[in-house]
Amino acid sequence: MARQAEYIWIDGTEPTPLLRSKTKIIRDGGEAPVWGFDGSSTNQATGESSDCELKPVFTCPDPIRGGDNILVMCEVNLAVNDSPHPTNTRDACAAVAKKYASHEMIFGIEQEYTFLRTDGEPLGFPVRGYPAPQGPYYCGVGAGRVYAREIIEEHTQACLDADLLIEGTNAEVMPGQWEFQIGAADALTVSDHLYVARWLLHRVAEDYDVVVSLDAKPAKGDWNGAGAHTNFSTKAMREDTDMKAIEAACQAIGKKIDLHIAGYGHDIESRLTGAHETAPYYEFSYGVSNRAASIRIPWQVQRVGKGYAEDRRPNANCDPYTVTRLITETVCSAV
Ligand code: ADP
Ligand code: MN
Ligand code: MN
Ligand code: MN
Repeated sequence: MARQAEYIWIDGTEPTPLLRSKTKIIRDGGEAPVWGFDGSSTNQATGESSDCELKPVFTCPDPIRGGDNILVMCEVNLAVNDSPHPTNTRDACAAVAKKYASHEMIFGIEQEYTFLRTDGEPLGFPVRGYPAPQGPYYCGVGAGRVYAREIIEEHTQACLDADLLIEGTNAEVMPGQWEFQIGAADALTVSDHLYVARWLLHRVAEDYDVVVSLDAKPAKGDWNGAGAHTNFSTKAMREDTDMKAIEAACQAIGKKIDLHIAGYGHDIESRLTGAHETAPYYEFSYGVSNRAASIRIPWQVQRVGKGYAEDRRPNANCDPYTVTRLITETVCSAV
């Protein structure tokens, strides 16, 4: 029986890479092999030396095609020597996850995003002017408050059919803005699943002629930006009941503001202004229940003295391999 394998990879578009994919027919029950593509068309190579390598790293059922068809998340390597391509951030994440494996770090990422019409305006924004101010849209129900719920329903079911670790969804504060969460799992698993879930979102919305934007600040002015709050815990944070491990993690991250902000996604300065449930990007703060802090410690966590913390700074357009690598390196090297 022949089946279709959709190979997905991250390209070299700047400042924010895009997802690409193409289809390989696999015959006679074989597994997905290493494959290749023309890197000169994805900003990953020059025309003279254009071949890049696709190395399968995560495979799951393809919920769009169904049957035995699969999705194949790949790392990009250089064809000349199989070494990681400069755009391959997963390889460095894997190395750091391995180095600090004894800390048993796990993550849950809240992916916010914005639906746009093909004219570039958010769904729910009138052709001229603005919709009513923020207020009724977050977790809303009813026409005029939420937009394109049919895409959310289809995407959520697709993630479930693909066996991804999707945890939930909600309508966000700005009209046309939504969120889903992936987790909780180790750095590579949560990031692989998040990329496949992003690909599925683009793919489902494509059929509705709706654009998915991961822009950090898709509407200027008094509208919330889009983030990717990254919840994290080490074994010690989950088990010690005196808050010490959680506070030590927050303090370690607070010593490396610039390093983290530089890896948390393009245009973060436009989003982390200090308004709209954010802390300014150039300052660091942490606090219980505080949605205006860089890192929030949920109130339930403080009550029992253990659990996890939420780095609220990563952008919707962040690279989860980079974000989870930075948090792992900073938190685990400090203890
Ligand atoms: P909120 O919107 O209140 O910030 P969500 O419910 O959207 O929170 O997301 C909470 C996230 O926290 C989920 O992705 C979940 O996986 C993650 N999480 C829960 N417990 C842990 C833990 N011990 N370590 C890491 N992440 C966790
Ligand atoms: Mn959330
Ligand atoms: Mn949210
Ligand atoms: Mn959150």
